[in-house]
Amino acid sequence: MRIDRLLASLRALLALPDRLSTELRDMERAMRDVERTAERTFKRHDSEMATLRGDITGLRDELRDRLLQYHLQLGRLSALVDGDRNGSLGSRVPVSTGRDNGAAQPEPSSRPRAAEGTGDEWLLLPACPACGTADRTVVCEWNKLVLLDTAPDEQAARYDYAVCHGCGILYATRRPVGARYQFLVEHFEDVIDKDAKNPLLNPYPLTDEDRARYRRLTARGPFVSDHESGGLSSVLRDRMENAGHADLLGSMLNPRGARVLEIRPRAGTILEGLRRHYGADVHAMAIWESQQFIMQELYGIPTLSLIDFDRFAIPSQEPFDLIACNHMFNHVVRLDLFLKAVRDALRPGGHLYLYNEIDDSEFLDGGQSMIATMNPLHLQASDRPSLVRALGAAGFEPVLVNGRHKRNFCLMRRADQPAPSGVEGSRHATIGTEDLARRIAAYRRARDRAVLRAPAAVRDRFSPVWDSTVERAVASGVARFDDKGELRIVKDDR
Ligand SMILES: [Zn+2]
Repeated sequence: MRIDRLLASLRALLALPDRLSTELRDMERAMRDVERTAERTFKRHDSEMATLRGDITGLRDELRDRLLQYHLQLGRLSALVDGDRNGSLGSRVPVSTGRDNGAAQPEPSSRPRAAEGTGDEWLLLPACPACGTADRTVVCEWNKLVLLDTAPDEQAARYDYAVCHGCGILYATRRPVGARYQFLVEHFEDVIDKDAKNPLLNPYPLTDEDRARYRRLTARGPFVSDHESGGLSSVLRDRMENAGHADLLGSMLNPRGARVLEIRPRAGTILEGLRRHYGADVHAMAIWESQQFIMQELYGIPTLSLIDFDRFAIPSQEPFDLIACNHMFNHVVRLDLFLKAVRDALRPGGHLYLYNEIDDSEFLDGGQSMIATMNPLHLQASDRPSLVRALGAAGFEPVLVNGRHKRNFCLMRRADQPAPSGVEGSRHATIGTEDLARRIAAYRRARDRAVLRAPAAVRDRFSPVWDSTVERAVASGVARFDDKGELRIVKDDR
């Protein structure tokens, strides 16, 4: 009995290897499965690890950028504390910059030098002055005055330029009017020749001596040659620069005997050309007496009253066939009133010709500084499609739209029906969503680039927005930190 049990146990023991080998095979199979699963899992983890590594690198770079940014900021501040203002003019001409939220109101002026006796004359636009759309995005707070040694007053640099969500133009949402605007016209260095060396840029009322001098100069006619002395070289230059416009208008419109008005001609080249070739009945509206006098003396072109950029009006009852405007879209203070006045002064089917209007690619493409281009008399800017939409909203149809040397020109026809202006959602063309987003992004990059490029002497005027500007500029690719931690503007960010 005991032997039987012993034998049975022995048999079971002898059979064990077989069972074990079967179980081992099974285990081996399971292990291979686990290995395969593990392999797959490891692969996935590898990619997760790679992502994680990338994130860590990104964070490290960001941290380095931040530290460099603060390092730069601290360096700048310690220089200020040490009294090294690096020739800064900020203390002499304080210009309030506000916070970088695009909606801040200017701080109250404590030194209204220019505004003395004029009151606080600002026009705050609730909507686009071309198409009436209220929706907009403020993209740049300042005009060029923020970069200059001397600003007429500390409020004048703040215009809060916005991109219109309707037609897409850029416009100053706050702008000086009345005497404050007049002050800028009379004193802004880019517009006038303070010493009146160029008779065409003399903004002052003429004296008898001036008239006598201008008569002597115009007696030589417009064609001033280097082999002789005297004469008005600026008139010849105007002919060389603007004769193309007269050729274009003459060829496209054949204005035989047409009644033509030019607003803000420099020296009357276009009017003179249309009269000479087509017998057009020409009239001019000039900015200054000096231009008026020279055009009358030189070409016998009759002039209406001087231009009032603020309260613009055309003092003529008889309608015109063609009205040409030099650089008026950029300058006029009340664009809606201006476009209405021009439209009302045209006969049905008459033409409006705008030329010398800034194409904003001049600064959006990274060439010029946006803030330097938008001087305080530049209240509107656009690209060509936005210009056409803006004029479409004012009751004009495009005939020819083009540009040259970053300046646009467009020939428009007065539409039969005026567009229902000033009403949001009216039937004028609006900018597409993607185009609008692209335009706003381009304007923000241009603004950031302009701030970062500001000369060291005026940089402390931007101190309230410096950090946020650096941050945004690095994020959008406008600027980067180089290996030494210096902030660099990226040359072409497109
Ligand atoms: Zn608009």
